[in-house]
Amino acid sequence: MRALADRPGTSRALRLARRSWRLQHVDPQQAISLAQRALDLSLATGDVTAEAWARLGRGFYLLYFTTPEEAEPELIRAQRCFEAIGHRAGHIVAGVGRARGLWRGGHFREALERAHSLREEGLHVLNVDQRGILLNTLAGCYSAIGDSEQAFAHMYQALRAAGPSRAHGFDAVLHCNIAHELLQLGDYAQALRHIDHGVARCSALNDQQLLSVLLINRVICLTELGRPREALPDIERVLALPADASGRGTMGSHFETLAIAALRADEEALGARLVELARHAPPPQHPDERVERIIAAALLERAHGRLQRALAEIDRALPLAGDDPAEGLSLRMRCMTFLTLAEMQEDAGQPAPALASLRTWQRLHLQRADQASRARYQAAALQTEMLRLQHKLDDNEARRRSTERAHAELQIVNERLSRKIAQVQALQAALEHQATRDFLTNLFNRRHLDDVMPAMLALAQREQQPLSVVIIDLDHFKAINDRHGHGTGDLLLTAFGKLLTEQFRKSDVACRYGGEEFCLLMPRTDAQAACRKVTALLKVCRSTVFRLGDITHRGLSFSAGVCDTLQAAQSLPALMRAADDALPVAKQMGRGRILQSSVARIASA
Ligand code: GH3
Ligand code: MG
Ligand code: MG
Repeated sequence: MRALADRPGTSRALRLARRSWRLQHVDPQQAISLAQRALDLSLATGDVTAEAWARLGRGFYLLYFTTPEEAEPELIRAQRCFEAIGHRAGHIVAGVGRARGLWRGGHFREALERAHSLREEGLHVLNVDQRGILLNTLAGCYSAIGDSEQAFAHMYQALRAAGPSRAHGFDAVLHCNIAHELLQLGDYAQALRHIDHGVARCSALNDQQLLSVLLINRVICLTELGRPREALPDIERVLALPADASGRGTMGSHFETLAIAALRADEEALGARLVELARHAPPPQHPDERVERIIAAALLERAHGRLQRALAEIDRALPLAGDDPAEGLSLRMRCMTFLTLAEMQEDAGQPAPALASLRTWQRLHLQRADQASRARYQAAALQTEMLRLQHKLDDNEARRRSTERAHAELQIVNERLSRKIAQVQALQAALEHQATRDFLTNLFNRRHLDDVMPAMLALAQREQQPLSVVIIDLDHFKAINDRHGHGTGDLLLTAFGKLLTEQFRKSDVACRYGGEEFCLLMPRTDAQAACRKVTALLKVCRSTVFRLGDITHRGLSFSAGVCDTLQAAQSLPALMRAADDALPVAKQMGRGRILQSSVARIASA
């Protein structure tokens, strides 16, 4: 379960708020201090998401440890925040909290109505632990209105949803509640198992209030199973817990329950102390507690050997537990009342009333057994419904995961492909460069010249613009090689290539024709203009001091032949030949000069 895991980019306030939410059952005190910090920070930074979770955490804490009146406004604020950010699950959980508040305030039917209205959407949008909170609240409502079957079924489902690894301590709450429900049905052995689970879980939690409720439930089970002596250590443990909000709290002061166990275990002194504590505790809210107090007092009288006073005491329970029982009084308490009465009547030598009491007890006991069997049936039916729903949710989740996985895989493949394409493109560019460039001078090579020349000529003809061809041959290059070595000759060729690139336009094509010969294609340039440009180049060339490693070379010259399309019109070979033919003439004439071809003359030669 990673729904609450923090994603990168989560604000500090939100991280605190979510941690607080996860800790609400693990360590309520730490949870509330974290929620407060998260709330302060979220308000300072205007982080509505963090504020929503912080308020939700605070709302639930107030619900568990203070009063529903204090929790309600905070839960409403949380709901508003969740609404503002469009977070349905959070909104529903806050709504469940508000239903729980109604339940705590004794408005059971309203609470049930509200929780029920959230059930359908909740089961779809809530994650596992949030679903547990919804189901548990529904269960509590059903339990309160005496619908043990529904209560038991919902609790069982909530527990199934909330495993220890993902429920962050909420599973212990559920074990406690389910045990309480089983206990009402008289299934004590099963209840004990849940309590033992809950108590074991509590060792990893810091929730004294929950521990005390679990221990009190265990005391009830052991007493009802006729093993009250085994409950004595739990009684001591409960009494050792502090009685404030961080300890037993208001819900944990069931001294009358402990007193009954102590007196059943023949611990008269402890029983007397507990009856006294119960007498000084606030008046009991629940009818069960009122009857328990009466029974405890009656048992104490009997322990003191005052049977008549014990009988008089227990008589006070009959208006509550008799044929027209007090609203909300459990069958368990009614059974206990009549069984205790029967015992005392027997002790007092009144067999006929004792038998009548036993008969009543038997009737109630049968009712209880019937309720228990219906509860089991109901739980099984609900479990089937939930299982179907769970399967559907699991299926959807699996489908979503597999789509996500496929998407991620596709992304990886795409990235790999993009990288490959970039590599191939780079390789192609390098190959193209290699194929069209001369490696020594980085000028174009002859192959490129042959490729582009027809197109350039066609363009010139279409534009009716001249195109000049210049063939350059370095003078006495052999002598340079001979004097400085071939390597230095190479460096000079490279340097000359650089000069060519610098001196001519981008639209001119300069290439190494071969050896120490170069060829220039000059679009939109006639022979005269070409001659002028090449003469300027010659001038630069002559005055340049070439630094070639350790050697310096100056006075480099070249001879060149120039021809344009105005002179050797239309034919490419004729144009090249004309420029080429002018070159030896330039050499013969003493080198270091540029000669414009006279096509007519050469042609006639
Ligand atoms: P001129 O053209 O002025 O008649 O004299 P030249 O010495 O340049 O004449 P020739 O064409 O006979 O010699 C060309 C020399 O260019 C011969 C060769 O050693 C040299 N050469 C050709 N290609 C390269 C090259 O790639 N590197 C070097 N270092 N030298 C080269
Ligand atoms: Mg040559
Ligand atoms: Mg030469």
